[in-house]
Amino acid sequence: MTSSPPPRVCVIGAAGRMGRRIVAAAVEGGCLVGAAVERAGAAELGQDAGALAGGAPLGVTVESDLGAALKRCDVAIDFTHASAARANVDAAAKAGVALVLGTTGLEDAAKKSLAAAAKRIAIVHAANFSVGVNVLLETVAQLAKRLPDHDAEIVEVHHRKKTDAPSGTAQRLAEALAEARGVALAKAEVTGRAGQVGARSAKEIGVLAVRGGDVVGDHTVHFLGLGERIEVTHRATSRDTFAAGAVRAARWVTGRKPGLYDMRAVLGLDA
Ligand code: NAD
Repeated sequence: MTSSPPPRVCVIGAAGRMGRRIVAAAVEGGCLVGAAVERAGAAELGQDAGALAGGAPLGVTVESDLGAALKRCDVAIDFTHASAARANVDAAAKAGVALVLGTTGLEDAAKKSLAAAAKRIAIVHAANFSVGVNVLLETVAQLAKRLPDHDAEIVEVHHRKKTDAPSGTAQRLAEALAEARGVALAKAEVTGRAGQVGARSAKEIGVLAVRGGDVVGDHTVHFLGLGERIEVTHRATSRDTFAAGAVRAARWVTGRKPGLYDMRAVLGLDA
């Protein structure tokens, strides 16, 4: 049996908290780091991506020309910022390079670009690349169905530098709850309470964000009944769990037919 050659990965946002871990995970996972891209003006331009990630030099210099970088790669991994996602998705589609998109807080225009790009390239888009959270999504949906009268609320905690709220993962968990209960999330979601908000309605799904310190990412889904409650918590203690998942997704999506895939497909959870 012949095994396929390791994909050449373009890490977009290579100097970021996630980007550095992705460079390290790509090396660890036997991929080739083909390019490391940062925004124009970033302080890390010109530095070696491997050294920046705390490992051995890779001979790959952080650059800002995404179009040129994509030409040398089979797959791109983007963990940047919501404001950058649309242009990066368009660039990957134009270059015909498969994409793993982990950036959260996407605006509607970026979501539209994503759907259009998925007609030309294979894309894995997930709010969370950890195995645990993707299994948690199933568990939470099952609990929501089994406990229809329990109030469902989500509380997420992230480090002080996170710029979007609620987290993409909290949003995804809320979607899973809404879908399991057959309610429209746009109507059911409550993202903050202050003042005379009145009693909680049965269909509400509360999604609350706590920010501070260096917390990588905690999510608790509360099912609150009369005289009892269940709390299901996922705690990420290292970004390496997301980075390893993103690299796994990059291997999986390389050479796949165009489409928009999620982490469930990568992990084989749909089977
Ligand atoms: P960060 O701010 O530490 O890193 C982002 C990096 O992207 C920065 O170095 C920034 O300079 C760079 N960047 C911004 N615009 C760019 C552009 N146009 N081209 C190239 N580089 C650009 O942020 P982070 O903590 O690494 O998180 C990044 C994103 O990933 C956020 O949206 C976060 O919510 C998301 N995230 C997703 C998961 C997941 O599993 N899906 C896990 C963790 C974080």
